[in-house]
Amino acid sequence: MQMILATSLEAVLGVPEIFAYVFVFVLGAAIGSFLNVVIYRVPNELSVVMPNSACPNCKSAIKPYDNIPVLSWLILGGKCRKCKEPIAWRYPAVELLTALVFVLVYWQIGFTPYLGVALAFAATMISLVFIDAEHMILPNVITYPMFIIALVVRIVFPLVFEGNYFSDTTYGPISYLTLYHGWPAWAVSLVGALFGALIGGGSLWLVGAIWKALRGVDAMGLGDVKLLLGIGALLGWRLTLLTIFVGAFTGAIAGAFVVMRSKDKDFQAQIPFGIFLGIGAMVAMLFGERMIVWYLGTFS
Ligand SMILES: [Zn+2]
Repeated sequence: MQMILATSLEAVLGVPEIFAYVFVFVLGAAIGSFLNVVIYRVPNELSVVMPNSACPNCKSAIKPYDNIPVLSWLILGGKCRKCKEPIAWRYPAVELLTALVFVLVYWQIGFTPYLGVALAFAATMISLVFIDAEHMILPNVITYPMFIIALVVRIVFPLVFEGNYFSDTTYGPISYLTLYHGWPAWAVSLVGALFGALIGGGSLWLVGAIWKALRGVDAMGLGDVKLLLGIGALLGWRLTLLTIFVGAFTGAIAGAFVVMRSKDKDFQAQIPFGIFLGIGAMVAMLFGERMIVWYLGTFS
């Protein structure tokens, strides 16, 4: 997001920047540990707070000292302390991935009010990517609140903070509300959010409807449409279109790879598109505006 004046922790508090990166990394690993719980429990409709984590095999409670992100898995050699049953590598992988993504987010966004939003957005995308990969669903209990929170953020930020955090409000048709009608910033931001949701959710719904009319099969679930409501509301129409583009592009590559490796050349695998939308949304949030500027500069 080039709109945001990236500020470092060093500039704000005088703390050496390396501490900020270490803190964000450790925070990411801890949040990743929580995301593991979300990924495991939400699709099974279990509470994410109660009870404490237990070994899926022997059901013995995991002690706090065996619950240190990444390190505990390494120390225990990837096995439960009690029953020695292997613990899926997905657990440390999600923790490490979240830690690295958090570092990436801080590097791009900096120490700004938007940082918390961006970290929460990235964490939500990571949980949805792994849930969709395993269960082929994007749970409503995640996608609906995400849409509502995105709308709240889009209203509150222009009211509370200086500067513009939402790039879509400076491009047509949203910018015309300011240029010709002089709407207050929060209203322009909210209309931008709703327009982004409409563009995101609407275009995906349309593709699904056309595909169903032509082929008679559901190409994608409504979960993808609901996910794009939230992405569209937060990122705005430009970055949402980029999200769909990056998602379709990476999804097509992965799909071709799956078809190539399968023996049945004719098969129609249902690829969980939410994986690629989640990746696309993170790429769009962090690098999107620069990618669009580069693309328009190169090909027009
Ligand atoms: Zn066990």
